[in-house]
Amino acid sequence: MKVGKCFHRKILNPCSLEAHNYQVDPYIGCEHLCHYCYALNKVETDWGKEILIHENFVKRLTEEISSLNSEDIYMGMNSDPYQASERTFKQTRKALEVFAQSGFSASVLTKSGLVTRDIDLFEKMPESSVGVSLAFQEEQTRQLFEKNAPSNEERIDALRRLKSAGIPTYTLICPVMPFITDVESLIELVAPYSNKVWIYRLEMKSTEDQNWQNIESILNQNFQELTEKYRKIAFSGDHPYWRQLRQKLEELQSKKYLNLQIRL
Ligand code: SF4
Repeated sequence: MKVGKCFHRKILNPCSLEAHNYQVDPYIGCEHLCHYCYALNKVETDWGKEILIHENFVKRLTEEISSLNSEDIYMGMNSDPYQASERTFKQTRKALEVFAQSGFSASVLTKSGLVTRDIDLFEKMPESSVGVSLAFQEEQTRQLFEKNAPSNEERIDALRRLKSAGIPTYTLICPVMPFITDVESLIELVAPYSNKVWIYRLEMKSTEDQNWQNIESILNQNFQELTEKYRKIAFSGDHPYWRQLRQKLEELQSKKYLNLQIRL
């Protein structure tokens, strides 16, 4: 993997998620190469060959947060903060150190067990939380859609270790792939180690987008009977498939007193 430098781009950026004003991507590009990733629609480099890191990262991040009051910063919006290069470059760890020293906290989303390396820093920031995302219950299917990401086993083990250390945890089941993702079985797997479980549907915007083209090609090769169904379901939040699944999960939530955040 070639790692290039990025000199002038802002590190701290506005965040559109609930409860967060700002987000930081320590890397530009993501080695996990999930074929459904929305960030693939706006890539600047070939993520399979090159990612970028910010030059003078600590100095610039410290300056950029200096005008803010302490708050929780989201990490994991357009790239995974714990992708393989983090073992070498430690950009995410450096960002967490800056936050901890400045009275900030971080809400981190990852697919990697490497996140447990930084438990010491999360412990210093009690407002922090750590989540893992997953979307497939079978390893073989997972590998079709998430080329280089770590296994579910690694992610769930990370959740377990974080929870035992007293760090607030969450799971993001995303994207729910119609007729492929078994949401209920994934909830059962992660619920013991997650304070909250978020569930987001597969949401495609345009047939021209790279992520849709990737998904369509995987379906054509492996689940041919699903391609036409996806053309209808993945582009419409009103489709009966989502309504029925939503209802089923709401029933499960009240029956088992689960803390689910259903966004289907
Ligand atoms: S880990 Fe997240 S950011 Fe990275 S490719 Fe997968 S979905 Fe995209």
